[in-house]
Amino acid sequence: MNIPVKLQTSDLARALAGKVALVTGSTSGIGLGIARALAAAGADIVLNGLGVAAEIGRTREQIAAEFGVRASYSSADMTRPRSIAEMMAATIAESGRLDILVNNAGIQHIAPLDQFPVEKWDQILAINLSSAFHTTRLALPAMRENGFGRIINIASAHGLVGSPFKAAYVTAKHGIVGLTKVTALETAEQGITCNAICPGYVYTPLVEAQIDGQARAHGISHDQVIRDVLLAQQPNKRFATVEELGALSVFLSTDAAGSITGIALPVDGGWTAH
Ligand code: NAD
Repeated sequence: MNIPVKLQTSDLARALAGKVALVTGSTSGIGLGIARALAAAGADIVLNGLGVAAEIGRTREQIAAEFGVRASYSSADMTRPRSIAEMMAATIAESGRLDILVNNAGIQHIAPLDQFPVEKWDQILAINLSSAFHTTRLALPAMRENGFGRIINIASAHGLVGSPFKAAYVTAKHGIVGLTKVTALETAEQGITCNAICPGYVYTPLVEAQIDGQARAHGISHDQVIRDVLLAQQPNKRFATVEELGALSVFLSTDAAGSITGIALPVDGGWTAH
């Protein structure tokens, strides 16, 4: 049987034209990679995250010029619910809509459980988990109004399995997988999907800081940490890339992914297949 093909290649290349996407923690690493991929697919972008104002300004201008989309920026601090609420209200007021929400902001801290600093626990839970609750609850009314929404939570392989010394991070990432499922169930009939992406190690500033810390702690070289500590977990023996995560986020944002919801998808070179 011949199935009529309605999509043209050009449609796919700008599959997100006219959509508005907000990516938390997009001044660096994975979030920036995802923001660039969504912009390349035609979406207007709201960046968020910490950093030097002039550099963030350049990133914004570069995205707008390279991809012919609007790119704005919110400095909202993901530890502060009021700041998050202001970002969400401003985004929806200025753009008139919010189609794609990527909850990506995250930090890490490594310490044994009985020595884990209480303020670090609170900070990690706030940024890596609670911020996604706040952005999601505030995005849903606008998405419901349009009958369309895509929520992508950047969890981690540590949303599926544990590792020692990462109590707060593993707890927050397991939590966000749970939030993903509940969000998917509550929105399933409303044209909205919610999925978690669970990357293994990706070479970003967040991981670079861990490499330096581990090298000092074990008295081994940078390359040994990569080979014997980090990628020991990852059967394909290479870092996942921000481009791979960007391409997946674009696909999950398209109409073609409309039946995919409530999943936690590993992008980890086989780590969680063990
Ligand atoms: P990164 O350090 O390069 O980027 C983190 C981003 O979060 C930055 O833009 C930073 O400014 C922002 N951020 C931090 N604190 C913030 C706050 N209080 N308010 C607003 N923004 C804040 O790290 P990354 O590796 O790109 O990590 C991005 C996400 O991917 C995180 O949720 C992380 O847990 C997850 N992740 C990373 C890896 C990896 O190997 N790099 C693997 C799995 C999951």
